[in-house]
Amino acid sequence: MPHSPRHEHPPPPPGILAEVHAFLRGLGAPSYRYQQLVTAFQRGAQSFDEVRDLPGDLRQLLVSRFGLTVLPLEIESVRTGAQVEKVLFRTRSGARVETVLSRYRAGWSSVCVSTQAGCGLACSFCATGALGLERNLSVDEICAQVVHRRWSSEPGGAPKSVAFMGMGEALANPNVLTALSVLTAKDHGGLSPRRITVSTVGLAPALATLTETHPQVTLTLSVHSPFPEQRAQLIPLERRFPLEENLAILDRHVRRARRKTYLAYLLIEGVNDSEDHLEALAKLVHQRSRPELFHVSVIRYNAAFGADPSFRAPASSKVDDFVARLHRLGIGATRRQQFGADIDAACGQLRAESMGRLRQRGPSGDPH
Ligand code: SF4
Repeated sequence: MPHSPRHEHPPPPPGILAEVHAFLRGLGAPSYRYQQLVTAFQRGAQSFDEVRDLPGDLRQLLVSRFGLTVLPLEIESVRTGAQVEKVLFRTRSGARVETVLSRYRAGWSSVCVSTQAGCGLACSFCATGALGLERNLSVDEICAQVVHRRWSSEPGGAPKSVAFMGMGEALANPNVLTALSVLTAKDHGGLSPRRITVSTVGLAPALATLTETHPQVTLTLSVHSPFPEQRAQLIPLERRFPLEENLAILDRHVRRARRKTYLAYLLIEGVNDSEDHLEALAKLVHQRSRPELFHVSVIRYNAAFGADPSFRAPASSKVDDFVARLHRLGIGATRRQQFGADIDAACGQLRAESMGRLRQRGPSGDPH
């Protein structure tokens, strides 16, 4: 008798899990074996041998077909600071990517994942941009950063929230959309889309697609300057997809999805911290379709590898003051909590150091 569609699991995501699924089917294994495997990897298993729910002969067959593990990342180096851990992973192809785990006092953790090895968008304030693009990460490489044993076998389990704010422009990599589906699918990542944040410097066509396909995911658009000419110097992509085009997409999105959306503002001493900048930024928000659904997230710049050497970090009190003045202008704003200044937790730095290509100048903020 055919199974009712209600009892069918959704198809596995493209990538290595699809291959494992097909292999198990080819062997005639019952479909729950695949789910046992996925559950074990979610709980921190790294190799087929550790998936004790599977019969020994099946584990053997999987090892002989795929090797000991399907997880495509090996740890190359780790830097640990108060509440934060930064890991440099090496992929099977030898690419190096960084992942940052932040542990919150409330007992849960959040992981910031990379989506590309390097980045081709050359933002002038960013360590990763200075490296150039090596390649897009695969779905497996993105998801493996979330479920890696390093954190998924901790008492609290795998991270409860994920930020696509690491190395690379997330929306420049089409695999990110599939990774979002995997991470939010009940049978795979099981994460609430509301606990996932995707950050972009404004790749408008891909942003529009994302708002259609994953409307509940939290979005952060990097603004960094309300003035087009200056923004183009900071974010060259402004010349192809102006801020206004991206904001128009977000206007439609917040009306439909009724989700709060974030505008990131990287505060750089003497560059974008003037009264004119503040007022123009506030005006930009007031002009939105639903201004109350836009929230400005102010980030303190820190000198980074490869960034414009003339850029300086503002005093911490200036960042607080900028936020307070936005409040006085009626704008929802907070200062982004930045863990890890003690370990250079900005994405791109550990890799840059490992390559020895760029000279260290000090700790950096998150480039997005
Ligand atoms: S800020 Fe983001 S988009 Fe810009 S160069 Fe850095 S990684 Fe790429």
